[in-house]
Amino acid sequence: MKKTGALFIVCGPSGVGKGTVCKELLRVKPEVKLSISATTRERRKGEIEGVNYYFIGKSNFQDMIKSGGFLEYAEVYNNLYGTPKKYVLEQLDMGYDIILEIDPQGAMQIKEKFPKGIFIFLLPPSMKELRNRIISRGRDDEDNIEKRLNCAYKEIDFIKEYDYYIINDDLSNAVNSLVSIIEAEGCRVKGNVDELIKMYKEEV
Ligand code: ADP
Ligand code: 5GP
Repeated sequence: MKKTGALFIVCGPSGVGKGTVCKELLRVKPEVKLSISATTRERRKGEIEGVNYYFIGKSNFQDMIKSGGFLEYAEVYNNLYGTPKKYVLEQLDMGYDIILEIDPQGAMQIKEKFPKGIFIFLLPPSMKELRNRIISRGRDDEDNIEKRLNCAYKEIDFIKEYDYYIINDDLSNAVNSLVSIIEAEGCRVKGNVDELIKMYKEEV
């Protein structure tokens, strides 16, 4: 049965563990694809071009916007981020499930274009723990930590836009929940009715 892949959008406040959870998911479920975003932000120590992001200049980013190369894009903490369209559409067409790890502005743009997308919101066990994680990552000064926490409160207000939530307390539990969501979505009748009926009728 030829199935189109499903599009999963993983969102959540900065520091909640989106990157960590998605990386672990790819380890336990390597058949799932992860979209690599393009960004104008500076490359951080340890980040690899084409693995973490495609690091491009502002004018290249603008050119990609003009040529319709992004599925969505947004400004996040003073930098531009976008999902390259071609790779995502190709993977879906080949039947692969694909994950976009993007901010809520981007997620809402995807919702307009792909109402069948599955929107997942990652939550921290508490705001105190979120603060600890942002601090432990060691990337932000006190001012930026407050900005990220304020943003987190606003983002959580929009949780009704999402289909699922996962509390990222214990990492392996969070990853297991994500795996369960992906597997359950793969067994949906809706969207596969014609293919399912055809598959069994062809046998007769
Ligand atoms: P995000 O991508 O959402 O900004 P990261 O994946 O960079 O967040 O994680 C932020 C920090 O929290 C990192 O130091 C990471 O190691 C830590 N972290 C992620 N998930 C957990 C977890 N389940 N328990 C404890 N620490 C975690
Ligand atoms: P960071 O710079 O810490 O890697 O990411 C900052 C924020 O940008 C995170 O919230 C991340 O989810 C978001 N982000 C990463 N890639 C994209 C993208 O392609 N589109 C959008 N809209 N947000 C993105």
